[in-house]
Amino acid sequence: MNNINHRSGVSASIERPLFQKLALRRKKEVFHKIEFGLNQLGLSHLFKKFVCSMDSRLIGFKAKIVQRKSTSIECKIQLVLSPLFYLKAEDFEDSNSVGWKWIENQMKKGKLTDQDRKAIIDYYKNKELSDEALDFVIYHELGHVKQNYRGLSFKNPKDSEIDADKTAYHLLGSIEGGIYFFSQMGIFHPDKDSNTHPSFSKRMFALEKVRNHKFYRSVSFYKHIR
Ligand SMILES: [Zn+2]
Repeated sequence: MNNINHRSGVSASIERPLFQKLALRRKKEVFHKIEFGLNQLGLSHLFKKFVCSMDSRLIGFKAKIVQRKSTSIECKIQLVLSPLFYLKAEDFEDSNSVGWKWIENQMKKGKLTDQDRKAIIDYYKNKELSDEALDFVIYHELGHVKQNYRGLSFKNPKDSEIDADKTAYHLLGSIEGGIYFFSQMGIFHPDKDSNTHPSFSKRMFALEKVRNHKFYRSVSFYKHIR
């Protein structure tokens, strides 16, 4: 089950029309958050360049500046979200809810195991934290947008992940969503470094550290990022 995210389809294969309404509604919610985040980062002019698409892989998300020309206005930013990042606890409220139908469909197609199902149910049991985890993921991706836009380069790609986590923390004012996200993802993936990402436990440790650091407590977000 470690590679469930690799048994992927493309967004076109996502269950329609089951998800169409939901996806549209979620996109609106996600766009509100993106607008807020970009504003906070002093990048509100990029908002109209944002494109959000849904992916049918269980877990997967990315935001990238697709095309960056010297005039910053010419870029397009794409955010890809997978079901685990746009389904919310409220989609599992009763047996007719869209979340359950999605699980059923995925199981029929052999894309989810019983164990996955249990893990997903567990994940959504905590409404508040699963919502915050979604926000954390969105704001983490905005952290990458900020890095790309400002041309920040990191010798080690893992440092850019930690930096994007910090941006998410600053935008949210809390690390709880991130901690929940990383602790839950440990169920779906092994907790070890990849070529590009630090392990979940390292990222949790870095978040705790930044929250406890007096620099971050005493300096306002704006002072920090400018
Ligand atoms: Zn990242």
